[in-house]
Amino acid sequence: MIPPTHPRYRSLLEREKVVEGVGEGVVAMQGLIAHGRGECFDYLIGEVTAPPALRAIEAAAAALLLAKWPVISVNGNVAALTPGEVVQLARAVPARIEVNLFYRSREREEKIAHLLKKHGAGEVLGVGEDAGCTIPELHSERRRVSCEGIYKADVVLVPLEDGDRTEALRKMGKTVIAIDLNPLSRTAQSASITIVDNVTRAMPKLVEYVNALRGKPQLAEVLRTYDNRRVLADVLEYINARLGELANSLRGTGRL
Ligand code: ATP
Repeated sequence: MIPPTHPRYRSLLEREKVVEGVGEGVVAMQGLIAHGRGECFDYLIGEVTAPPALRAIEAAAAALLLAKWPVISVNGNVAALTPGEVVQLARAVPARIEVNLFYRSREREEKIAHLLKKHGAGEVLGVGEDAGCTIPELHSERRRVSCEGIYKADVVLVPLEDGDRTEALRKMGKTVIAIDLNPLSRTAQSASITIVDNVTRAMPKLVEYVNALRGKPQLAEVLRTYDNRRVLADVLEYINARLGELANSLRGTGRL
């Protein structure tokens, strides 16, 4: 039991959820390493949703609301960390949900679909034979997607994705929204809209923005004026400034 007063309570709780996800067969072992990399960047960001991430969340909400065929891609870590918000977002947009795994196994697909359904999801695409279409330029199991889901989508939300698939989806002409704590990853650099934030903070905010922006006349303008390279540059500057302040405070007081 982690006491709620622990300074790293939230982070430790999330780590526990991912570890439990491995035990339940929802998260692959490699998901632990991915989570650790995310934690490291979250430490640098200060475990908050930085202003540039909020701009990306606003643009992501606009893209999802304006989409003709929006799809939310779910992997093991996302299912373990934010299953309820995935379902809420899918309802709010509305969007389809697809299980999309880097390390595919029928058993894990079914477990993730079951978990999402337990949280209120209706149909969950991408399980077993449903993943019958292929993303060009990718190899092996990683190329399989649902014909009625990611394959057909114009806008895909990929909270936690790898660079190759993000690039391949972009080449298919899709708008790709990534949530990735690492602003330097290939995923972050090649997505159309990159939310540099923890999925556990970004997903509830995305639901909030979708509900607030639905039907608003400024949606197209939000999207038209959005510049992802600029947002990524602003994230790097945000981290840089924060580290500068921390360094200064260390010089000044001798402690953080
Ligand atoms: P790429 O192929 O895009 O360069 P990578 O090889 O660095 O990616 P992977 O191991 O495929 O990364 O995926 C892990 C990514 O997910 C990391 O960039 C990490 O920062 C991010 N990540 C992990 N946990 C979270 C989380 N809870 N919220 C947001 N991002 C996360």
